[in-house]
Amino acid sequence: MLRAYIGKKPAGVKPPGRRTGTAQDKAFVLDAPLKPLTRAPLVDPFGRDISYLRISVTDRCDFRCVYCMSEDMTFLPKRDLLTLEEIDRIATAFIQRGTRKLRITGGEPLVRREIMSLFRSLSRHLASGALDEVTVTTNGSQLARHAAELAACGVRRVNVSLDTLDPDLFRTITRWGDLSKVLAGIEAARAAGLHVKINAVALKGVNEDEIPTMMRWAHGLGMDLTLIEVMPLGEIEPARLDQYLPLSMVRARLMDQYTLDDDPHRTGGPARYVRVRETGGLLGFITPMTHNFCESCNRVRLTCTGTLYMCLGQEDAADLRAPLRASEDDALLHKAMQEAISRKPKGHDFVIDRRTPRAAVGRHMSVTGG
Ligand code: SAM
Ligand code: SF4
Repeated sequence: MLRAYIGKKPAGVKPPGRRTGTAQDKAFVLDAPLKPLTRAPLVDPFGRDISYLRISVTDRCDFRCVYCMSEDMTFLPKRDLLTLEEIDRIATAFIQRGTRKLRITGGEPLVRREIMSLFRSLSRHLASGALDEVTVTTNGSQLARHAAELAACGVRRVNVSLDTLDPDLFRTITRWGDLSKVLAGIEAARAAGLHVKINAVALKGVNEDEIPTMMRWAHGLGMDLTLIEVMPLGEIEPARLDQYLPLSMVRARLMDQYTLDDDPHRTGGPARYVRVRETGGLLGFITPMTHNFCESCNRVRLTCTGTLYMCLGQEDAADLRAPLRASEDDALLHKAMQEAISRKPKGHDFVIDRRTPRAAVGRHMSVTGG
């Protein structure tokens, strides 16, 4: 029983320290069984089933990765955030409409105060079979103290973002991150039985020469590695063009040394995978700039303020917070969700304009989550 430990945390789980979050954030447990799926599944105008919800639980982070945030980021006032119970309510409404997979992201999700309450609560949907999977995308800095509890809540897989194994370069990319904490977090996750995937943003002239080393390291520990192209989200200091490294180039260089066999593994998202014959591991490529992955898009994104983005690369969004708070009954929420999905666009419009390198979309990745 997934939630058998609730109220008595597993040994070794430390209480949270100073966290971000709202004044209302407190430990909570929802025991109500999921109501039967009485409403129609969410299907967009192009016939795509919406079965995957990514939830950004905070826009805050303990790092300031150069491609993600500016050094002096202004964060949202805490009063604007959804409470964890409200996030649970929206997630549950999506599950009632056919969502099978949740990814918890941010900002850094594990810095939100009482975040484990959300995982504990969501685990009821895993236990009931209404949900296939709850996953997390994290920078790994807080993973060492949360890994065991995440596993106890039914989380099976975590994505850890890590762009280099060099401590000095790590500090430069994250502006002040400590690599040893992230490596300890990865170890703790593996020890807890979580399947860890490493996500690395490929940065021109920064970590591009290190990619083969990272791949051997990840595959040697049984972890998949996914490379991500920099996306033009949010205005940040160094011109985005300086960081953009086409993965077609990375792939071509790897093929000088390795045999890359196309692999059918698909997530419904932008990643395409190869199996590296020499290491036996999976290598993913997320190439939103050079390939169109939209036709199979099954996902939508909820921000920590209750805004639903139907496409990562478009500005159009729907507010779910107002209908959520308008009544305890979820009828208005469901209506707003339905209306939002009816506006899901066919695809995104990312373009890097080489003369005027500006953000294609004004918001940062930390707002919508990766
Ligand atoms: N803090 C967590 C982390 O770093 O994994 C979760 C949120 S972070 C926004 C999610 C992912 O987005 C990370 O893998 C990060 O490297 C990636 N990311 C952030 N900004 C990006 C950008 N401009 N282009 C491409 N990937 C980006
Ligand atoms: Fe934080 Fe993740 Fe953005 Fe880095 S990529 S600043 S860890 S939210």
